[in-house]
Amino acid sequence: MAALKNAQSIRTLNILLRRNLPQISCTRNLNLQEYHSKDLLRKHQVSIQNFRLLDSNLDPKSLSDFKANEYVVKAQILAGGRGKGHFDNGFKGGVHLTKDPNEIMDLAKNMIGHKLITKQTPKDGILVDKVMVAESVNIKRETYLSIIMERSYNGAALVASPAGGMDIETVAEKTPHLLKTLPIDIHQGVTDKMATEIAEFLEFKGAMAKKCAEEIKKLWELFLSVDATQLEINPLVETDDGRVVAVDAKINFDDNAQFRQKDIFALDDVSGVDPREREASALNLTYIDMDGSIGCMVNGAGLAMATMDLIMLSGGRPANFLDLGGGVGQSQVSAALRILESDPKVKAIFVNVFAGIVNCATVANGIVAACKENPPKHPLVIRLEGTNSVQAKTILEQSGLKFHIINDADEAAKAAVKLAEGNN
Ligand code: GDP
Ligand code: MG
Repeated sequence: MAALKNAQSIRTLNILLRRNLPQISCTRNLNLQEYHSKDLLRKHQVSIQNFRLLDSNLDPKSLSDFKANEYVVKAQILAGGRGKGHFDNGFKGGVHLTKDPNEIMDLAKNMIGHKLITKQTPKDGILVDKVMVAESVNIKRETYLSIIMERSYNGAALVASPAGGMDIETVAEKTPHLLKTLPIDIHQGVTDKMATEIAEFLEFKGAMAKKCAEEIKKLWELFLSVDATQLEINPLVETDDGRVVAVDAKINFDDNAQFRQKDIFALDDVSGVDPREREASALNLTYIDMDGSIGCMVNGAGLAMATMDLIMLSGGRPANFLDLGGGVGQSQVSAALRILESDPKVKAIFVNVFAGIVNCATVANGIVAACKENPPKHPLVIRLEGTNSVQAKTILEQSGLKFHIINDADEAAKAAVKLAEGNN
């Protein structure tokens, strides 16, 4: 049994760690702010705290009919770890408790219009433009509950831990015995037995276990009905007055379900998203930001991975990658190059395209057009293989522009690393 649990934990750890890797899909994943996610929870009768929202107008009228013994004031950003975060104005914590209604506005003023930096945000944080003011609950215990779509189960699974409120990655790493994963049969759903098993693992006892099991079943109904790929409640708490409450909520959605989840996708908040990622997404391209110095233009996720590996093996680090996907047009290629160039981390650009559906000549024309309009700021290493590669080479060579055209992928990666170093 212990071995089984351990195996489950390791698998779960893999799942959870994988979650932090860049998502490579053709569109950017939908992100919902906590208050939108909680609206969905409320619609499915999941127990949450009543709340109001404050925006940059800081209108006290929006709280005039809102009374509680204690309030919790929470910065709304598309990242977790807010409680332990800090703002660019020095203000500490994106989650604050207060019993004094007059203090709410002061707390909100310290948050709205400032950037909140947490373990999960970019280094310089994310600008806060909304604050949630909720009825605080008296927490007796914090637990962790999520429902995820997991490839190795070919379906959904419940992941639970009585050690809630903290990073689940840390729990998985340091105390894997405190983590339980239960696969869900999509046809059967979360049965009473499963919900009770998880509630008891979360250390809810007697009547509380029953309440918790009910919440788990409602969360499953929500997960199914909104086409979620992940629904994370951290913490799911036990209050001192005997309630089970979802205090925080994060939901990820299946992009392929956009056509039948139009209302939810209309809520997409792009304020915290890298502007380059936003621009690429608008052009139907995928942009992923990283921390190195080489900008990469590739086609396909597999080649993106291979290109990153080649760069790393050559002693460099990718600054980003932009996936052109299939059937890309000349103007998209030009725009892609401009997006890569606009990243201040970039010191050299590596175009690595292996064309099947993509036409190398189109890529070459796009690069030449962009470079003629705005001379490139960085050296460009170009490897174009596959459909129309010979024609592409001619286009590049006859452009009168300086490119490093290298056919061998290894050599090209090495050259990009060297040029980036020389360009520092
Ligand atoms: P996160 O830091 O972004 O994950 O934000 P959470 O909403 O999870 O809040 C962080 C922590 O603040 C929680 O784990 C709780 O310990 C605490 N917290 C949040 N809401 C309440 C509340 O209503 N009452 C109390 N007492 N603590 C809260
Ligand atoms: Mg949380």
